Amino acid sequence: MSDIIQLLPDHVANQIAAGEVVQRPASVVKELMENAIDANATTIKLIIKDAGKTLVQVIDNGSGMSVTDARLSFERHATSKIRSAEDLFQLHTKGFRGEALASIAAIAHVELKTKQEQDEVGTQIVIEGSEVVSQDVIVTPKGTSIAVKNLFFNIPARRNFLKSNQVETRHIIDEFHRVALAHPNIQFLMYHNGSEVFNLPESNYRQRIVNIFGAKTNEKLVPVNEETEVVKISGFVGKPEYAKKTRGEQYFFVNDRFIKSAYLNHAITSAFDGLLKDSTHASYFLNLKVNPKTIDINIHPTKTEIKFDDEHTLYAILRASVKHSLGQFNIAPVLDFER
Ligand code: ADP
Ligand code: MG
Repeated sequence: MSDIIQLLPDHVANQIAAGEVVQRPASVVKELMENAIDANATTIKLIIKDAGKTLVQVIDNGSGMSVTDARLSFERHATSKIRSAEDLFQLHTKGFRGEALASIAAIAHVELKTKQEQDEVGTQIVIEGSEVVSQDVIVTPKGTSIAVKNLFFNIPARRNFLKSNQVETRHIIDEFHRVALAHPNIQFLMYHNGSEVFNLPESNYRQRIVNIFGAKTNEKLVPVNEETEVVKISGFVGKPEYAKKTRGEQYFFVNDRFIKSAYLNHAITSAFDGLLKDSTHASYFLNLKVNPKTIDINIHPTKTEIKFDDEHTLYAILRASVKHSLGQFNIAPVLDFER
């Protein structure tokens, strides 16, 4: 008899997990920004160099971490966000898998600086390919800064697979938009190669959309508001005459998380039936709030797809409320600058 099965060493397991979580620099942007939101930051700064290939850094003014937590945060399945399987169905955080930092640290050079409000000094940890290079006591402001350098330095095939700087930057800006739209009450800044790309002040939802997509957007937004027992819908759809040739501004959030759903996208676009010119696409920025018990977010590592208990009811409510708003707007223009 000969036994051949072995447990993989941590750094190998982490690298395998990283394959799922980190596709490109934009994936790092998403994970780090979501961690900053979960830490209750009110200002989040994203700094990238060379489309994120050389550097992705996120600096927040959130809760920070203790020395022990700073070290533990890089372990796989280490999370402060859930404690039991039941917690998966009462999630109030973006994260819960405890995999992002472990994955990122397995395939990049990572420098963490963090400090909690009540502490005099903070912690700096440098970790490269899952190996802790150094850990020091440092003076640093309250909050956390995580710099991710040389992504995929130890996976040449992945590094070579990255697209042009223009394409990778586009992906990063898409992620930035999604996170910033989901959280208008947080200030977001973005810098690329030393220049400011965005400075989005804390604002309401309409202002956030306008700050991202330009002043002209303001007049094209039709408010959508609906509240039923199963869902609360809020946000805006673009007036039909502003529909686009490209499928650009279509944002759909569930409990403050950007979600892709072809089915619910259809509910929205079908509400535009007869209003859109051929081969143009509706714009929308819609937020759904549902009871966390009625959705399952744990079906995909990047969490951009979720499973709803009752998709059919949601479809019907969503379609009806968008139709209602468009109908109201056709009778009398809606002048609502407050929301
Ligand atoms: P998850 O977000 O799923 O818990 P991560 O690997 O992204 O897993 O992070 C691990 C843990 O590290 C988090 O649960 C959190 O406690 C801590 N952490 C990560 N980023 C931050 C941050 N910016 N501020 C404070 N704590 C953080
Ligand atoms: Mg996380």
